[in-house]
Amino acid sequence: VTETAQTGGSEALAALHRVFGYEAFRGEQEAVIEHVVAGGDAVVLMPTGGGKSLCYQIPSLVRPGTGIVVSPLIALMQDQVDALRAAGVRAGFVNSTQDFDERRIVEAEFLAGELDLLYLAPERLRLDSTLDLLSRGKIAVFAIDEAHCVSQWGHDFRPDYLALSLLGERWPDVPRIALTATATRATHQEITQRLGMPTARHFVASFDRPNIQYRIVPKADPKKQLLSFLRDEHAGDAGIVYCLSRKSVEATAEFLTRNGVEAVPYHAGLDAGTRAAHQSRFLREEGLVVVATIAFGMGIDKPDVRFVAHLDLPKSVEGYYQETGRAGRDGLPSTAWMAYGLNDVIQQRKLIQSGEGDEAFRRRAASHLDSMLALCETAQCRRGQLLAYFGQDPDPVGCGNCDTCLTPPETMDGTVAAQKVLSTVVRLQRERGQKFGALQIVDILLGKRTGKVIQFDHDQLSVFGIGEELSEGEWRGVIRQLLAQGLLAVEGEYGTLVLTEASGSVLRREREVPLRKEPKKPATSRSGSAG
Ligand code: ADP
Ligand code: ZN
Repeated sequence: VTETAQTGGSEALAALHRVFGYEAFRGEQEAVIEHVVAGGDAVVLMPTGGGKSLCYQIPSLVRPGTGIVVSPLIALMQDQVDALRAAGVRAGFVNSTQDFDERRIVEAEFLAGELDLLYLAPERLRLDSTLDLLSRGKIAVFAIDEAHCVSQWGHDFRPDYLALSLLGERWPDVPRIALTATATRATHQEITQRLGMPTARHFVASFDRPNIQYRIVPKADPKKQLLSFLRDEHAGDAGIVYCLSRKSVEATAEFLTRNGVEAVPYHAGLDAGTRAAHQSRFLREEGLVVVATIAFGMGIDKPDVRFVAHLDLPKSVEGYYQETGRAGRDGLPSTAWMAYGLNDVIQQRKLIQSGEGDEAFRRRAASHLDSMLALCETAQCRRGQLLAYFGQDPDPVGCGNCDTCLTPPETMDGTVAAQKVLSTVVRLQRERGQKFGALQIVDILLGKRTGKVIQFDHDQLSVFGIGEELSEGEWRGVIRQLLAQGLLAVEGEYGTLVLTEASGSVLRREREVPLRKEPKKPATSRSGSAG
């Protein structure tokens, strides 16, 4: 066994150099490839960008026969195959986008043993004609990509995946490798069970990126905060700044350039030529900053990205992890920095409510956002929270390389503060039949006689001025955390604040509300008081 494994190992390494032009394997790749080349089944769990493709591509090259890749991503097959062919790999695909003749050519190549890799959509494998075709050729390995699609409890369930267990029954001697970036233990078990791979070896790559320092700061003046972060810690470094809208991408890139930081914008509204030029400058130059929407980054493999900054809240922890994961691929210290504030919560909640999609879609989006907010509001280790989200065990004492570990936030009993906010919302609604946004609520609590307060007679409310013990920034922090905890909700296009079912228990003093203390900082743009 060791001898074949060793030969397999050196052949694999040769293929890595010759075909893909890489120096060395990453993480678990080598162990996975060795195992599969030797004929073993494998279940591989690796984060996105971790390098799953090589885990089946190299065994397909090294073992005799064709590697059959089952993938639900039909839209990507053409690109994947083109890229492989450009590297000299004999690859093809069969899917519904092809006409009869194109399909016949690929099938003939497979039967003649002229393909290293053949990509198929899962629904193909239900067809007798496909199974018949496969049994007339020689198969090196079956790769089942996006294997979590077999899980009925997951987001991406595809009934066609359930039929894939027949591969093991029909081809017991062909090794199978199932791959996914979805990490919960339950999904993992389901994959093994439903695909019928009880003896598969499991390779679980860690989701931890120890060289990335995670930091989330309260948002006050985001562009300025970003600038001092860059000046203080990343002068001359390459990095990515993510913004939600094209407009803020443009404005931020301009702002940085004006302040002496070389930065270019990247978003889907720019023409293809500009986008390509900015991307290639980023890859080529040493210290360029790209300010981008999430359109930027897929397939970008620049090892020395020193920071990823978020000026707006990502929609999910998966998105955050993927985007921040573009920092520090070379293993050197890097920073994931985000500015986060009340408006992020309001804006994202509004987006979900007014967005398209059915009720189930909205619920899912809301639960993704909730996990993201929990990460932002946690007083515990950020890395621990991230790892736990992906089903991995965090270090119980904390990582020592995130903001909450480095400067543990103070927490306080926020029950009274929460009651004050909620009663103000209740009073407005019950006594006046009115709903207002966070700005007005804070002005009422602080007892400010602003134009809008006078206009609506809000200085006559019994709650007027009951919150002078906290600053404006602190009240915004309280409201933000109530929104994050689901004790308050936003409604409509103006983002007015309304109670939730859970609010009642706070108003009735049935529960306590622990809150993070807002760090003391200078007053924000709105200054002075009218009263
Ligand atoms: P995944 O499918 O897990 O999301 P990919 O297989 O697409 O990840 O790989 C992500 C990126 O990493 C690709 O650009 C790939 O070429 C690169 N990559 C993978 N393995 C290696 C390696 N051993 N050395 C250098 N780059 C690698
Ligand atoms: Zn930590």
